[in-house]
Amino acid sequence: MGGVTSLGKRIILFMGAPGSGKGTQSSLLASRSGFTCVSTGAILRHAATLNTPDGFRLRQVMATGALVDDATVCDAVVSRIRNLRSKEGLILDGFPRTVSQAKRLDEILKAMGMAGPTVLHLDVPNSILTRRLSTRRQCASCGAVYNLSSSPSINGSRCELDGGALVERDDDVEGVVARRLAAYEAETLPVIEYYVARNGRGGTYRRLDGTLDPSVIAKGVAEIVLLPETALAA
Ligand code: AMP
Repeated sequence: MGGVTSLGKRIILFMGAPGSGKGTQSSLLASRSGFTCVSTGAILRHAATLNTPDGFRLRQVMATGALVDDATVCDAVVSRIRNLRSKEGLILDGFPRTVSQAKRLDEILKAMGMAGPTVLHLDVPNSILTRRLSTRRQCASCGAVYNLSSSPSINGSRCELDGGALVERDDDVEGVVARRLAAYEAETLPVIEYYVARNGRGGTYRRLDGTLDPSVIAKGVAEIVLLPETALAA
């Protein structure tokens, strides 16, 4: 897309509760902009499959719906930010989720001389989130996401991309969803407040209606992300 390469190195954060569409919007933006996308959830889910003490520890934490400790998550993200090439954008899906992670991100961006992040908050009421998560299915091999009611696979229980089996994520089951939503309210809503308070001063915050059709949201995202920072401040 025109305009993207003229913007220097930058960080775009998708924030929102589980099921708010962060993964979908991150992938759409990555494919349109060429920016790299990092999903902390995907990194941690992969790490949790390993037969190591860390893998075992992550499996235990994630199975309860709790957040993984800040040090583990920050280590995974920091190295990716440090390796950013000039004029490249990095989309973070699911990070930061605690105020301490947000402060760590600020420190790194400052140390690298980078601007504050563009924060895109996908706002969705809890009743809709719970319904979406109970009907979400993911391809066991490539990770593509479907929804049994709003965006089913044309191949039924198989992925449209690679034919992999569509499965329910272990943490999308009822009791765990409630705990993930509670963790979001307790630990991540304060991060949103943190960015709202700093909007225009070391970062940009935009709230988006996450109940709209994904293509409509993606259009709004593209408008925000492709505008030069000076235009956003107007
Ligand atoms: P997600 O795929 O973003 O819903 O993340 C799945 C799970 O990974 C979460 O419920 C947490 O246990 C863990 N996780 C992902 N991102 C973070 C983060 N930034 N901080 C702590 N835990 C995280």
